[in-house]
Amino acid sequence: MIVILRSSATPEEQRPTLDALAALPGIEARVHTVRGALKTLTEVYLIGNTKALSAEDIALLPGVDRVVRVSEEYRILGRHSDQQRVTGFEYNGVEFSQDNLHVFAGLCAVDTPEHVREMVEALARHGQTCTRMGAYKPRTNPYSFQGHGKGCLPWVFEIAGKNGIKVIAMEITHENHIEEIAECLEKTGNPTGVMLRIGTRNTQNFELLKAVGRQSRFPVLFKRGFGITLNESLNAAEYLASEGNSSVVFCLRGMKTNMGDPHRNMVDFAHVPVVRRLTRMPVCVDPSHSVGSRERSPEGISDAMHVTAQGVVAGANMVLIDFHPAPRTALVDGPQALLMSELGWFLDDVALARECYEKRRDRAAKA
Ligand code: PEP
Ligand code: MN
Repeated sequence: MIVILRSSATPEEQRPTLDALAALPGIEARVHTVRGALKTLTEVYLIGNTKALSAEDIALLPGVDRVVRVSEEYRILGRHSDQQRVTGFEYNGVEFSQDNLHVFAGLCAVDTPEHVREMVEALARHGQTCTRMGAYKPRTNPYSFQGHGKGCLPWVFEIAGKNGIKVIAMEITHENHIEEIAECLEKTGNPTGVMLRIGTRNTQNFELLKAVGRQSRFPVLFKRGFGITLNESLNAAEYLASEGNSSVVFCLRGMKTNMGDPHRNMVDFAHVPVVRRLTRMPVCVDPSHSVGSRERSPEGISDAMHVTAQGVVAGANMVLIDFHPAPRTALVDGPQALLMSELGWFLDDVALARECYEKRRDRAAKA
């Protein structure tokens, strides 16, 4: 059960209610501050056997806005059929919610300062404020390039900041990386912001999730596990929130099965509306790691662009996509990186798909 307090309630008004909830026998009352894009709310999660509690009586306590009975699963990140629940969050001046859309185009793996510069300068020319940059790369083969690690962070942050990039999506594979990123941001004077990314290979690395969830400085881009059910991935995302960080974007990136061939993974963007219905998380699609190539269909549009449009038309709130100034020399995933000359076209195509989604949404409101 979740008790949502009125955003206008002062701490003095909240106190008797928080005390009453904490005193409920056999029930643990966990207080969470939920920072939405528009307002900050205090929510109290009542954990234990809440069946015998009267939601009506609790709703009468001072400062209570409403009481929501929740299912066992994804208590914090779930929607629980309450359409008023806050979705999304704000980070470094950028708003992430189920109502808007951001493109994170960039390098799968950081290689040289020149390529980072070329990438973010192109993004700046196209009015973009977000990018993806991989410094810590989990690789199938231990002898493959593992990313430059913390050594590249100072110049990546400086070059990004100089070009007006506010948020960099960056995978971390160990909890120490959180500290390395935070320290480097401090040292360089916080020229930009970082959204920590949990990669598909770590979707159920629960200790890493707990560590990332314990901090709330950085929001999280959480990738669906490539070989587990959607329900298992949503439960895993809830680990972040259960530890205190509910600023989470959920990313679809395709499922591992040969049935998806010749795509690298079976594209699962039909689940965009499902995740938006089941949870309050903004939903991201990653066409690069789903499709895995630059192949084009007869009209000349790449499969990556087609599936991006499919996700955006279905209401996706973020697109994570690989670009590279010289894909042939890229150290990771060159074959799937779109070319810099395609950036403007790609962004136009995303805008067309978004317009289509908005028209569909407005039509649905009249149905
Ligand atoms: C990536 O986005 O660079 C990546 C490794 O993705 P995934 O974890 O989905 O494979
Ligand atoms: Mn990659």
